[in-house]
Amino acid sequence: TSNMNELKAAIKWSEDGLVPAIVQDAQSKEVLMLAYMNEESLGLSVSTGTTWFWSRSRNELWNKGATSGHTQRIESMSYDCDGDTLLVRVAQQGPACHTGRYSCFYNGIELESGAQQADSAVDEEESSDRFGILGKLETIIAQRYAERPAGAYTTYLFDKGVDKILKKVGEESAEVIIAAKNQDNDELRSEAGDLLFHLMVLLRERGLPLDDIMSELNNRHGKPTTNKMR
Ligand code: AMP
Ligand code: ZN
Ligand code: ZN
Ligand code: ZN
Repeated sequence: TSNMNELKAAIKWSEDGLVPAIVQDAQSKEVLMLAYMNEESLGLSVSTGTTWFWSRSRNELWNKGATSGHTQRIESMSYDCDGDTLLVRVAQQGPACHTGRYSCFYNGIELESGAQQADSAVDEEESSDRFGILGKLETIIAQRYAERPAGAYTTYLFDKGVDKILKKVGEESAEVIIAAKNQDNDELRSEAGDLLFHLMVLLRERGLPLDDIMSELNNRHGKPTTNKMR
């Protein structure tokens, strides 16, 4: 299509006809991997809605997940200001990394200015990002979903399947109600934590980003509560 020709013209291809593509989890927003596309793989990605790359080591087209089953369904794609990088937001099936990790970026680099940075990061967390733990939890749950580490409770829940997760959400809701009825805030704190955790496991299972829940709440903010909420 002419759309495709326009897109190919907008991309600043390298000398060997490639462009780097950053692959991001559309749900948790974690960066999963980086790979290269040529014109053909970009065309295939756009037309099939799954990621295709050019393997520089094997010198061949590569449909991510073709052998591993760890496919990527494209939710959206964009390129940056100067057209030299693609961003691909995906629903990732299983781990994105061929090592079995959720993300390829598991090699942390320690900063020499680390102590100072860590301190200010903590300060920031306490002031501006009061509920940052929910975002961190979303990423950890996404990691468990992809990697299924043995012995983890979250692995157990995902392996058991959606009905088990639904049952837990129901149980924890009931426990929240009982704790509140008993006017026991220690119990309520603990059960509310259980409920939030299991609710987030359910959101991962259903592929619904926490951002969407936050947007939903933001959209309602300042508007009169509708009757259906009562
Ligand atoms: P897959 O596309 O997942 O079936 O994997 C096929 C091959 O592609 C693997 O054996 C790796 O050589 C390569 N591969 C898969 N995932 C990645 C990745 N995230 N980064 C680099 N190479 C990968
Ligand atoms: Zn750029
Ligand atoms: Zn990797
Ligand atoms: Zn509980």
